[in-house]
Amino acid sequence: MAHFIIIGAGQAGQSLAAKLRSEGFDGEITLIGSEPVPPYQRPPLSKAYLLGDMDEARLYLRPRDWYDDQSITLRTGAEATDVDAEEKTVTLADGTRLTYDALALTTGSGPRHLPAAIGGTLGGVYTMRDLADADALAPEMSEGRRTLIVGGGYIGLEAASVTAKRGMQVTLVEMSDRILQRVAAQQTSDYFRALHTAHGVDIREGVGLDHLTGEGHVTGAVLSDGTELGLDCVVVGIGIAPDTRLAEAAGLAIDNGIATDATCRTSDPHIWAAGDCASFPHGDGRLRLESVGNAIDMAEAAAKAMLGATEPYKANPWFWSDQYDCKLQIAGLGAGHDAVYVRQGDGDMVSHWYYRGADLIAVDATNDPRNYMIGKRLIEAGKSPDPAAITDPATDMKALLKA
Ligand code: FAD
Repeated sequence: MAHFIIIGAGQAGQSLAAKLRSEGFDGEITLIGSEPVPPYQRPPLSKAYLLGDMDEARLYLRPRDWYDDQSITLRTGAEATDVDAEEKTVTLADGTRLTYDALALTTGSGPRHLPAAIGGTLGGVYTMRDLADADALAPEMSEGRRTLIVGGGYIGLEAASVTAKRGMQVTLVEMSDRILQRVAAQQTSDYFRALHTAHGVDIREGVGLDHLTGEGHVTGAVLSDGTELGLDCVVVGIGIAPDTRLAEAAGLAIDNGIATDATCRTSDPHIWAAGDCASFPHGDGRLRLESVGNAIDMAEAAAKAMLGATEPYKANPWFWSDQYDCKLQIAGLGAGHDAVYVRQGDGDMVSHWYYRGADLIAVDATNDPRNYMIGKRLIEAGKSPDPAAITDPATDMKALLKA
């Protein structure tokens, strides 16, 4: 019987295993995860779960029984330490050696840490990647305590939202000129800056962290402009790096993640990769996405390819972020845009439409799920309405889909 092994029991690993079964694969499937729990959703870690509005079992993508029902051997708390691509074996930390016919790497990514030399290893300094991180941070969050958030991307802003909701005194530093600079237009940054400021978060842009202070546990910070802050804890949201350690050691090609071809196959013919850890051909270059949507879609494409499909993987990027009572939804990729058009809805509904030349390339919508969905469908269909129609409040947006 054929044996398929998946290393990395996260969003992509679970989706890949499920797709193998739903496509009719009746061989053996082993899903190996280093965390002690079954695959779970990470987005609530910086949202409802951190706030205490969701319990751990609801994070799980499937209950434990599901894996038995599907005849999937789920090995949690098991770290794969070696892949021998010649022998087609995987070795686990406890010495177990497993042989595969096909292997998938869905090892995800890891958070970037502050260097120890500037206080990154002091107690009270947290990253936000896994359940253990959220469980460690939660007890720190009580009224009146002081926190510094380092980084004004989505993770940093979500952490600011939750800690501010908990009544903490929150300062957020963003080294570049504005929050969300890497991922969103000026207008979107302006919206979220105003939102956080209204909730009492002290946002400082163009200011970095020089170093943290404290003996054993963090007690303060010195910022790049010389400001000194007294602190009880720090949340670091300065980006992630794809986890390519096993792939590199196995001699696979790496290029901003584990490099795959259009069918998610790595440089080894028996190994595929998907999710945060993998980059794939896109336009003239390569793309690596860090999102639930990509983890699911790429994993499903990889599963089909492992069963012989030759269809290329085509990414349709989408993402969301929840901050306070606002939901931001994004479709497409705004990088390289040269114009942004704003469609103001009722109340606090607003959407931003990103164009490169005459092409609509992305939309972000705040509290406006209808226009998000219309934008997403337009982008996926390759349709680019006249920007004048976008900004005209009289336009029937749904009609643009039929044009
Ligand atoms: P992961 O979910 O990271 O899973 C990889 C798994 O592989 C991990 O459990 C890891 O322990 C395991 N692993 C790695 N190496 C080994 C090994 N050698 N042996 C065994 N196991 C191994 N995306 C959105 O679209 N919207 C959001 O709102 C959003 N919010 C987020 C909030 C937070 C706090 C975080 C951390 C992420 C968020 N994301 C969000 C991103 C999204 O969760 C990721 O893109 C997605 O989880 C990627 O799935 P993955 O399976 O590739 O990696």
